[in-house]
Amino acid sequence: MAHKISDECVSCGACQATCPVEAIKEGEGKFVVDADVCVDCGACEGACPTGAIQAE
Ligand code: SF4
Repeated sequence: MAHKISDECVSCGACQATCPVEAIKEGEGKFVVDADVCVDCGACEGACPTGAIQAE
């Protein structure tokens, strides 16, 4: 399991620095969570202004 960033993402990048394992990277049109790196801590969820980040 990992957290996932939906299409609500506006690529603001606010979540990126909150991830302790650097699982969040900028993708095409939105940011993406590398599911192989994410440890499901949930730290990024509250950082997203559009609520785009949720547990899968
Ligand atoms: Fe990083 Fe935690 Fe968010 Fe996973 S849930 S992307 S480990 S901050």
